[in-house]
Amino acid sequence: MEWIVDLVGPGVAQAMQVDAILYDGRSAFQRIQVAASRLFGRMLVLDDAIQTTERDEYTYHEMLVHLPLVTHPSPRRALIIGGGDGGTLEESLKHPLQKVTMVEIDRDVVEVCRRFLPGISGAAFEDPRTRLLVEDGIAYVRTARERFDVILVDSTDPKGPGVALFSPEFYAACATLLSDDGLLVAQSGSLLYQRDLTEMVRRHLRTVFPIVGTYWAPVPAYPGVLWSFSYGSKRFDPGRVTGDTITQRLTSVQTRFYGPATHAAGLQLPALL
Ligand code: SAM
Repeated sequence: MEWIVDLVGPGVAQAMQVDAILYDGRSAFQRIQVAASRLFGRMLVLDDAIQTTERDEYTYHEMLVHLPLVTHPSPRRALIIGGGDGGTLEESLKHPLQKVTMVEIDRDVVEVCRRFLPGISGAAFEDPRTRLLVEDGIAYVRTARERFDVILVDSTDPKGPGVALFSPEFYAACATLLSDDGLLVAQSGSLLYQRDLTEMVRRHLRTVFPIVGTYWAPVPAYPGVLWSFSYGSKRFDPGRVTGDTITQRLTSVQTRFYGPATHAAGLQLPALL
């Protein structure tokens, strides 16, 4: 039995014992592992940090995706930065979007996840509305000419290829790609152990967007369980979406975790920030 040890932040590590390592390789960008544990099933690990697990991926992906897609009243185009496991893509495609563009830097992550964690993406990569681009998200947002209603930043933490995805320049470039009423959500770290990171994301978003906030979801395999997501919006405020609107927008979108109660609860931050 082996341990996956994630050095989360100053003075804190999360260790998880796993029954087997099913894949261990190194791409041009990072170390990629797939491990299996009794508690969480198969999990994707990049540079020793657990990215997603079969057992709890749905709380993270549903809250990252549905909260902004419901906040925008009529999203047609979405952009995902990162998200190589395909979970964010799969949840996005549950909405009647015209097109979802996913820009992932590491083809190996996509291929390894499709092989070892096929349940997380389902049929998302074959959906005709999907456009997968294997390139650096930073370069993409700097040069793209398209418009999006929602941008979802499903990145690794700010180390390795993900560092610049947390910069004010990146958020500013995203804002130029967003429609006049668009919004962006980014995963912004552990509420317990990465408070500096969450604060930094909020601070950087504030330099660009008039409406900025943070919400959370429980993601048991992530360090500290309480995981944060931060949004920057040009017009629509997630805090003003009513329960009735959420219920109505979910009529044809099946979820296990996201709904009116978790939307509202997620926006209530535990007294930590
Ligand atoms: N849910 C995860 C978490 O919070 O830990 C993130 C999952 S997803 C696998 C993160 C992806 O972001 C990785 O596949 C990584 O290759 C990708 N990524 C990192 N830097 C990137 C960049 N500059 N452009 C595009 N994708 C990037």
